[in-house]
Amino acid sequence: MALAQVHGAVVSGVSGTVVTVEVDVAQGLPAVGLVGLADTSIGEARHRARCAVGNTGLSWPLGRVTIGLSPAHVRKHGTGLDLPIAIGVLSADEQIPAMTQSDDQPVFVGELGLDGQVRPIPGAITVTCAVQQAGFRRIVVPVQNVNECARVPGVEVIGVRSLLQAVHVLLGDDDGVRAGMPMSVAPVVSGPDLAEVLGQSEGRRALEIAAAGRHSLAMVGPPGVGKTLLAERIPSILPDLSPEHVVDVMAVHALVSSPGAGLVVIGEDGRPPFQSPHHSSSPAALLGSVMAGSVRPGAVSLAHRGVLFLDEAPEFPRNSLESLRQPLESGTVSLHRAAWSGDVPADFQLILAANPCPCGYRHTPRSFGRHCDCPPTSVSAYAQRISGPLLDRIDIRLRLQPVRSAERGESSAQVAARVLQARDRAERRWGSANARVSPGTLAAYPMEDGAEDVIADHLRGSGGMRSTHRIAKLAWTLADMDGRSRPNARHVNEAIEWHQPLGDEAA
Ligand SMILES: [Zn+2]
Repeated sequence: MALAQVHGAVVSGVSGTVVTVEVDVAQGLPAVGLVGLADTSIGEARHRARCAVGNTGLSWPLGRVTIGLSPAHVRKHGTGLDLPIAIGVLSADEQIPAMTQSDDQPVFVGELGLDGQVRPIPGAITVTCAVQQAGFRRIVVPVQNVNECARVPGVEVIGVRSLLQAVHVLLGDDDGVRAGMPMSVAPVVSGPDLAEVLGQSEGRRALEIAAAGRHSLAMVGPPGVGKTLLAERIPSILPDLSPEHVVDVMAVHALVSSPGAGLVVIGEDGRPPFQSPHHSSSPAALLGSVMAGSVRPGAVSLAHRGVLFLDEAPEFPRNSLESLRQPLESGTVSLHRAAWSGDVPADFQLILAANPCPCGYRHTPRSFGRHCDCPPTSVSAYAQRISGPLLDRIDIRLRLQPVRSAERGESSAQVAARVLQARDRAERRWGSANARVSPGTLAAYPMEDGAEDVIADHLRGSGGMRSTHRIAKLAWTLADMDGRSRPNARHVNEAIEWHQPLGDEAA
């Protein structure tokens, strides 16, 4: 009868926290007590652990078992502490060797089935990041979570299928399951190709600039003009995520995915995510929610490091659209709920599509046989659903017209190669995509003399500081696409064109 200490980890908000599980086994009437801000799911852990221990061929101690979870102030939920609790009980009961305080002691996470099998947990990569940051060198995780967790550098990830296997790993006579074994096969989904978009050379150019600099893009035009076709093809020209960004993306998606289903983990293939929420989505689905201390990221966060596409943007609730302003500025979305309060990653590239009016055919040339007869008041009311302050935060504004041309353009592969080169130039220059560079950094990199003059003129005119910064970033992207070391006057003038207000739609 003794005291044992084991480390586990839980998801707390959007990050992980290492939890110390202390188990004391004392003489007395058989009972199991649990202390340390645990919710119902953890309360049930003692029952699952007890059954799992029994069904594994080991024995649950006869006596009073007290389980303490610390830090006490962190709310703990989920089932990931089942495994460390069971290990702690076995250790306190001296059925397995006492855990030493050496650096080599692994952290355990995993849900236990009553039969002693270890089941996958959501957020495994998130807790693995926390374990690595806390200085631990090894983590034992459910086998279904191994490949995901092994993305985190600097920590040895050991997969186990059962409580018994975890015990053997601890005893040193089982190496566990390592990453790299074929757990899930990611089908290579080659998305729709730009070559399928006929005509619309201006739209294609706008999409390429947006991809090259991670610029936000608004497209206004009548139904069927190709707004959605274009937007859905941006993933096919975006570069792969960096290894660090892959981990970022997986950590956000791990909070919502049901783990271990053999499905492709979003981000695992290195591709940036593409989220296209419907306009009927609730604010919670768009921005995120908190349930019992557990954060459920919304579309803005699931689009982290990737693209958020809002089709028929004026149909979204105005409040939802306005809420995008904060993440567009900061790259995070703030959730303030009773159970949890904090910032969730939401560094997305916004692509927005809208009809110019309720019927959709305003500004359409008469020769196309459709014309708008919406009353002016309904046109302006429709336009104002996308507010001026939101449009101010959009770098590229494009009005698309119907085209008769059936000209076939370049393929996505051809465009993607150029986008990659432009992105590389920006990354080498200031370590980020152009749209994300700070005003201070921007100011430290002079353009060519003529270009500076155009910028200064724009600032003196109706431009304003915010708009001038956006134009400068766009000009850098145009220069990167040209393979030039600095923007010239032509780049700045083109940037100003792309940043023009949309006209009467732009309220
Ligand atoms: Zn109309």
